[in-house]
Parts: sequence; structure tokens; C-alpha cells
Amino acid sequence: MISIEEAFEKLAATIAPIGVETVSLAELAGRILQEDLSADLDSPPYDKSMMDGFAVRSQDVTSKDKCFSIIETVTAGEQASNRLVANSATRIMTGAPIPEDADAILMVELAEEIESNGQTQVRFDLDHVAPEKHLLRQGTNFSNGDVLFTKGTSIRAHDVGLLAEIGVTTAKVGTRPTIAVLPTGDELVGHAQKPSNAQIRNSNSPMISSLGRSLGFSVEELEVGRDDEAQLRQLMQQALQQDVLILTGGVSAGQKDLVPSVLKSLGVKEVFHKVRIKPGKPIWFGVTGDEKPTYVFGLPGNPVSSLVGFQLFVASALQGLMGGAIEHPKMITATLANGHQARGNRPTYWPAAWSAGSITNAVEPLRWNGSSDLRALGLADGFVFFDAQKLEFEAGEEVPFLSL
Ligand code: AMP
Ligand code: MG
Repeated sequence: MISIEEAFEKLAATIAPIGVETVSLAELAGRILQEDLSADLDSPPYDKSMMDGFAVRSQDVTSKDKCFSIIETVTAGEQASNRLVANSATRIMTGAPIPEDADAILMVELAEEIESNGQTQVRFDLDHVAPEKHLLRQGTNFSNGDVLFTKGTSIRAHDVGLLAEIGVTTAKVGTRPTIAVLPTGDELVGHAQKPSNAQIRNSNSPMISSLGRSLGFSVEELEVGRDDEAQLRQLMQQALQQDVLILTGGVSAGQKDLVPSVLKSLGVKEVFHKVRIKPGKPIWFGVTGDEKPTYVFGLPGNPVSSLVGFQLFVASALQGLMGGAIEHPKMITATLANGHQARGNRPTYWPAAWSAGSITNAVEPLRWNGSSDLRALGLADGFVFFDAQKLEFEAGEEVPFLSL
């Protein structure tokens, strides 16, 4: 049986990116860049006001009863027509370019406008202002030509804001794999049915398909495969049309666990079977020998095993197929809110929830009955990782946490 690290090494050694395509800005979230992208302008593109108020020369602000004459008003989208002269102010709105010679913005909340001799003047509740107050100079955020995104970066929804700011309309990204999900098991009935004795509902394929779709992939969800060689072969042949086939069930040591042997008979080469991990030990991974290979995951039937197998290995493989890194998903350091007694000798992903209350990194391992217990997952924010080096954990100990 291989370790989690070895499983990732084998995935990385097996998986080759599918290809590169050009997609538009609106489609970039969830994709992995296959080129560097740089800024085509400075940000901000001009010296700008960060407040509604008055642009002044900081040297002129010397006492609270000093009056400034108002030269003009500049709103966002306009340019100032006049430079500032001594003891003058330009009424300015957030986002507008500051007038020449201005070096500070005074907030409108500190200003009092007064009429004198038919002229409007302004006075400020300040006897001093630091130069550069409330303004942002051209190029402070980044400069024209700066590389802002490098090849291999995974684009998140919020990155699209910066991409838009630098005028990206299309970008080269890795092609998305297509996914087939094939649940197997004689005991399974559809979720709309009431199971009779010895039957259970198929919860895996709706869950796995939703995980795939929530990451933006197109998913073909097949009917339930029975523990029957001929029928499994037929469904697998159909499912192998996609780039990734995710099977659930039928990969352990039971008499009716036919998935590995039927896959092999269809020419799918085993890369690994069984990983030292809990839940999800019987996971199977292989690949077809074609020029355009299909990557096949056999996830164990229990739903939490399937979920952990997907979150760790399948999700990472999907990234790799799109040209990203194949590695264990990043974890954060959390603090155990209460003690925990781990069981067994395999590294374990244990459902856990953030403790209620203020900003904290405290997590509570949940009551969990093991790999069939999806109820605990309904309450979980992720998994605490217990590395099997020891079994007793005390409140306050730091543990890695994998967010869901
Ligand atoms: P298997 O991996 O086929 O040995 O199945 C392990 C356990 O998971 C058995 O108790 C199955 O009934 C259950 N199981 C298998 N497939 C599913 C599924 N699609 N949805 C829910 N439970 C399943
Ligand atoms: Mg089964």
C-alpha cells in the first residue's frame, strides 16, 4: 500500500495536460493560465483622489481659520482645467485626477464652505496636513509592463477584476477535461426511490457530479452499474469516451468488487490501488493506453471515502490535466477546540467544524461514525488531518485543516 505522498507522485508522473485553448475573460475563472500576462498601463493610470473633498497644497494648510478660494470642481471622469495656486482649493470627488501642484486631499467632512463677497470659500478643521494624504500616485499599485499573472496560475473569480483592469480580453489556458461519473453496486437505487430491504440510495454520483460541476466541469452522470461484468463493461466503454472517468464502489476486496478486473479487461492500466489513508483506502487509479488517454479513478463506495478521494486526488488530477500543479491541496493550521482520540494506524481526514464565536482558528472534530456517515459532513467545514504518528490529541494542539 502506498502513502498519500506516493499517490501524488504517481498521479504527477502519469498525467499530461490535455491541451491549450484561448478563452474570453468571462470564462477565465477556474482555468489555469498557459501564458504570462502583464499590465498595459500604470495603476492608477493618473494621480487620483481617494476621497470626496478638496485638493490643496499641503504647505498652505497652516491654521483652522484660513480661507481657501475654490477654483473649480472636478468629478470622476473629468480632468482639472487649472493648476492650484497658493491658498486655493479644487473641489474634487473620489476617483478624479488631482489638479497640478496639489499634494493632499482634505475630506469634505472637515470642510466648511462660506460665502464672502459673493464668492464661495472653504475653511478646514485642520491646522496641518501631511503631504500625499488621501491621494494615490500614478503607478503605485503596479506599472505598465509588470508581469501580474504567470503561466501555471490558477485563476480565481476575483482575479478576473485585475485581469479586466489590465485590459485582458482573452487568454491562453489549459483545456478542461470532461468527466463521466459511474456509480456501481447491486444495492443502489436512485435518490428519487424509496429503498426496499437491503437497498440504499445512490448518494455518490449526485455528490461527485456536483463537485465536478461546481468546479466548472461538464459531467456526464451515468446510470447505476450493477455488480455484473457484462453490464459494467458496457457502461465503462461509454464512460471512457470522456477524459476522466470517476467510478464509485466495487474497488475493495469483496466477491462482487469487479471494477478493477473489468477496467483491466478494457485496457485500463492500473497505476495504483490502495492508499494508506482513512477514509478511502481502496482507491484505484489507472489510465488507458490511447493517444488521448482517459484517466480512471475507482473511488470506494462509502460516500465520505468517495468525497475524500475526490477532494484529494481527483481534484488535483483535474488541475494537472488543465496544466496546473498536481499536489496535495493546501491546508491551514487550526487549533483543536477539544481533545480528540484518533483511531487506527492510517493518516485520517476527520470531519470538523469551526468553533462558533469570534474570529478564531479553533476547530471541533465532529461526532462521526466513519465513511458511511454523511450527516457529519453536513455539519463540517472541512477535515482535520491526524497523521497517525500518535492517537491522543489535546485541546489547543495545532493540526492541519483541509477546508471543504
Ligand atoms: P463498495 O465500495 O462497493 O464495497 O461499497 C462500500 C459501501 O458503500 C457499501 O456499504 C455500499 O453500499 C456503499 N455504497 C456504494 N456505492 C454507493 C453509492 N453510490 N451511494 C451510497 N453508498 C454507496
Ligand atoms: Mg459495491
